[in-house]
This record gives sequence, structure tokens and C-alpha cells, in this order.
Amino acid sequence: ENGLVSESTQTSAALFKKACKVIPGGVTANIKYFNPHPLMMEKGKGSKLFDVDGNEYIDYLLCYGALILGHGHHKVFEAVTKQMMESGTTIFGTPHKMETTMAEKLIELYPGIEMVRYTNSGLEATLLAIRTAVAYTGKQKIAKFEGHYHGGYDQVLVSVNPDMDRAGEAAAPKAVGESRGLPDYYLQNTVILPFNDLEATEKILRDHAHELAGVILEPIQGGIIPANQDFMTGLRKITEELNIVLIFDEVKTGFRLSLGGAQKIYGIKPDITALGKVLGGGFPIGAIGGKKEMMMISSARGSRDILTAGAENTDKQDPLYHSGTYNGHPTILAAGLATINVLEQEGTMDKLFARTQLLRKQLEEVYKSYGLTMQTLGMGSIFNIILGEGNIKNYRDMSQSNTKLRKQIDYELLKLGVYTKPLNRYSMSVVHTEEDIHRTVAAHDEAIKRVLNK
Ligand code: PMP
Repeated sequence: ENGLVSESTQTSAALFKKACKVIPGGVTANIKYFNPHPLMMEKGKGSKLFDVDGNEYIDYLLCYGALILGHGHHKVFEAVTKQMMESGTTIFGTPHKMETTMAEKLIELYPGIEMVRYTNSGLEATLLAIRTAVAYTGKQKIAKFEGHYHGGYDQVLVSVNPDMDRAGEAAAPKAVGESRGLPDYYLQNTVILPFNDLEATEKILRDHAHELAGVILEPIQGGIIPANQDFMTGLRKITEELNIVLIFDEVKTGFRLSLGGAQKIYGIKPDITALGKVLGGGFPIGAIGGKKEMMMISSARGSRDILTAGAENTDKQDPLYHSGTYNGHPTILAAGLATINVLEQEGTMDKLFARTQLLRKQLEEVYKSYGLTMQTLGMGSIFNIILGEGNIKNYRDMSQSNTKLRKQIDYELLKLGVYTKPLNRYSMSVVHTEEDIHRTVAAHDEAIKRVLNK
């Protein structure tokens, strides 16, 4: 597979070569690479990306879903510049009003959130959620689902994209490390569960209940494979019974499936929720929110002064350590609040979902017209194209699809001005137009034609 070899991306190729001399692999996150070289982008505007060769793309990567308002939305721009102009600096390193305003907003929107703390990324948010679960229960281990991603750190870099030869039985998956350099400790202390298999999940949870502090999951795996309602209801019931903290990782699904995330759609209250991406309006952020009794562990004795200032000392034990120079960054919170404000305007989310549905439907028709077995899979404003049949309910089903053909089509799409990283999912923004959809569908038609030589 040669990937994208094109006369029109020569500057990208040259700049990437230069990058490789000083940056390992030429990329700042491994996921950004594709053959033979990724495209170097220069500018984003609305639903479009422009590369260094001046090529224009309709952007469906949207920074892995973060840019729900597209590139450079004027409301975000205004909020950020106002914040910076008026405050004279970007960060105070002190408490400030907007931290409370955003927390109140999240509490209003997310059924499982009663209190909030901020971090700088989704990764830090899930890490803090897990630490809170361990602190709250006094137990040591964490369970996660096979195929679920929660950020690039040791404890959860297990069985995200495992090789089937090493992954064991479907109903009792084995922990497989995703990186060199992971201490064995995490393989031994992370319990792996099969997504959407309630019976097997319940059995594993009961076997490990005495040592499990929490279960973390993406309620919609990868933003595209939903948990069954029965599975979710069952999981909530069992975790409650066994005193296992239920953590929803809504870094991807937050604000994208509904303003209240997946939990609002399922009608399920997780104990702790991790947020990120859209929350920062295009800037780096993360947050956790959850039950007051769990969140309050962070305040127990964070500093002795907190006690005399009247904060509740809930358990007289040492506090949970949570810090971060840039936590609650005012500029980023301003961008996030402006983003939520736009999304809350009457009809905005409905229109976004309707456009996504329209694109999915038209893409399905195009693939079908070439006799290809294809389905779109997803919810709300995220979906992916699966070249394969059957009901896909977890990582193992997903790994059966025809990724070779999909990749070939994706490389052609890049030449035709439709951007997503090959094989990546599609995220939509509120500024993608019907004209964009029209052009995207036509590009798929042409790409398939080229690949099939028709
Ligand atoms: N959890 C999920 C579900 C994610 O999709 C991501 C990012 N792709 C993360 C956690 C990590 O977030 P970040 O990249 O901001 O650290």
C-alpha cells in the first residue's frame, strides 16, 4: 500500500522529511502519521482545512472531534480575545469566576455531575477519575473494556487495539499492553471486560469485586459503537451493588451526542464523568465531574487553610492530590463557554444531527450503488464508514471489517479534497453546509470509481 503519493502535496512531503530529522517519526502523536507522509496543514477556516501546498479540504477530522463549531468560529474568537484583552494576561494561577460559571453549566447539563474539577486534557481527566475511585473505595484495581481508549498513560494503555492472537477468549479478554515501556504492574492490575456482553461482564466484575475500585468505559466506543441500553442499565446496577465506581469517559461523546453527553441519552447517572475536547472550544482542557461525596475527597485537606476557610472536611483523611499549573485556564474556559452557548441556541444540535444523518444516508446509497457492503455506524454528530456486514457491538466485531479497501478509498478522498485521517471516524461541525455534504458524497463516488477501476 503506497498511501498518498501525489504531485500536489510536494511541499508537505518536503516539510515532513525535514520534521523527521528533529521529531521522531515526524509527528507529535503517533496517531497523526499515515503513509507515506501525513499532510502538513497550515490553516483552518469554518469547515475547511488548507495544507501547505494550498490544497483545500472539507475537514471531518476536526481535531479528533474537538472542533464542533469548525475552525475559527467568530463567537469563540470574540470570547477569547475579550478575555485576553480585559484580563491583561491569559492565566492567573488563582481561582476566578469563570471556573464556577462553567461548573454550574456542567452540573445543569450532565445528570451525573454534582461538582467539577478541571484538568488540561482528557487524559488527565480519566486519570483523576480513576484516582478518585481508588481513594473513595480503598480498592486497588480498575476494569476497562477491550477496545476502549482513555488517554495515553500506563494504567489504561491496555487492550485498546489488541492483537487478536494475544487477546484471549471473547468472554474473558486478556490484558494486552499497547506500548513498549509499560510496567508489568498495569497489565496485572487492569481487568479487561467485553463490551456489550452483560453476562460475561457481570461474571468478571463479581469475581474481582473485592479488589475493583472502578469500571471506566466509553459509553459509545470510539464515539461510534453504542452500548445497548440493557447493557448500560445492567452495568449501573451491578457496579452499585458491588461498590465499584462507574466512570463514564465522555471526552469524545460529551456535547457531541447531546449537550448532556451519552448519560443524558441513556438516562444513566455515572458516579464520575470525564470530559475534554469540545469543552475547550478548540483549546486543551479536561474536567471531571461527579457525585459530591466522591468529588469532595479532593478538598478534604488539600491545604490546612481550606479547613479554616469552611470547606467541608468529609473524611478526616489525607486528600486526593490534584494539581496543575494551567487548570481552569480562563482563556480556555471562555472558549468553552462560548462554544456551549452556541450549541445551546434553539435548533443548533438538531440541525447538526440532521446534517450528519443526511451525509450518512447519502454515503450509504453511493457505496450500495457500487455493490459494496457498507454501513455507517455512530450517533449524534460522529460516525464511521464500515465496509462489512453484521451487527457491530464491540472491538472484535469491528476488527472484521475491510480496512484495506477503506484505506484505498480514503487516500483517494484526500486527493479529492475530503479530509480525515485514513480509517478515522467522521465528526461533523455546525458549520458544515449541505454544499459540503454534496461535495463529500460526490468525492466518495469518484474515489470508489477510481479504486474499483470502474
Ligand atoms: N478518552 C477518550 C474517549 C478520547 O477519545 C480521548 C482522546 N481521543 C481521551 C480520553 C484523551 O484525551 P486527550 O487526548 O485530550 O488527552
